[in-house]
Amino acid sequence: MKHWASCERAGSQRCACKMCMGAKHGWTGAVALAKDNTPHRRDDLRDAADERWRAAWVGHRPENRRISYPKKSAAIISVVADIVDWLAADYEIHGRSTDSRRSSGERAAEHVETAGPDDLAAQSAASGQSSLQASALGDTAARPPAAKESSRVAAGPGEPPRLSLVDQVEELGNALTNVVLRDIERAHHGPIPDTTKVALADHFWCDLLAQLAHVLSEGVTTVERLTGKVPELVTQLVLESRREADRLPLEEFVVRTAVNSLWKHLTVLMPFGWLVLVKRMVPIVRVLAVLMCKAPERHEAVVRYCVDPLAGQLREETKRRLLKVLGNWLTGLEGHDDEAA
Ligand SMILES: [Zn+2]
Ligand SMILES: [Zn+2]
Repeated sequence: MKHWASCERAGSQRCACKMCMGAKHGWTGAVALAKDNTPHRRDDLRDAADERWRAAWVGHRPENRRISYPKKSAAIISVVADIVDWLAADYEIHGRSTDSRRSSGERAAEHVETAGPDDLAAQSAASGQSSLQASALGDTAARPPAAKESSRVAAGPGEPPRLSLVDQVEELGNALTNVVLRDIERAHHGPIPDTTKVALADHFWCDLLAQLAHVLSEGVTTVERLTGKVPELVTQLVLESRREADRLPLEEFVVRTAVNSLWKHLTVLMPFGWLVLVKRMVPIVRVLAVLMCKAPERHEAVVRYCVDPLAGQLREETKRRLLKVLGNWLTGLEGHDDEAA
């Protein structure tokens, strides 16, 4: 898929990229950063996050209790920087043994594309930009299966081997375009209408992932699980949350097709039973949701069901920032430290 660089590195909070329909937004740039051989660009992201946080509080008067979106957005960039560092550290252990160690820079050089006019327009229209300073982009093409297999590392006694976390995030992200989006196209019996494309780019994917993580980790009873109710529950939650948050409307069959497609993909990918699915897959689902959401500070499900439970991977300073500006959505932040590993 030809694609804009600015969408991949989350260049705009209002990105309405009709090429990927939001399915490649942000996460591809973050994956490349996590896989980068040198830490410099990750350090740049961290510095940019700190600077953004500092700048957001310049001129703040303590008597003003309103927390502005730039403050919330700055805290979220700190979250992204921490997640990228976590993925990079895991990649050192689980991911660096294969792929003939071509640097992400080399791969980026083959695939990087310049921002197109749509993106530039979207960027200039955005009031607050959430550029993650991810200056280079990696390719997002899945590796050949042989490479994937050889890079799987045993996770522990009796547990199936696993890819690095960032490879799993990449696989799941690629499945959104290679599997789920294709199923949505098929369900339309023709090209996806522009209104649907723009609606999909309006927090659809991050919401789908966040609601799925919620249902898998806490929102499903044994009976519902055993009777195959997970996709229906997620479908209803996504439809409800779009209505409540006043997102661009999507037809029910589009949401249902996407949920069924993703669910089928996950259960085939994780044939090791429910517990492994939840333990292994839910953190991946959460990470992808956070990385691809254009503005988690405006997306309650992403903060509640994804950022909050990943708190164990965040620096103390980042948690402090989050509690200061998004505390009302982070009821479990201090209690979830061990869950996300
Ligand atoms: Zn895009
Ligand atoms: Zn979102």
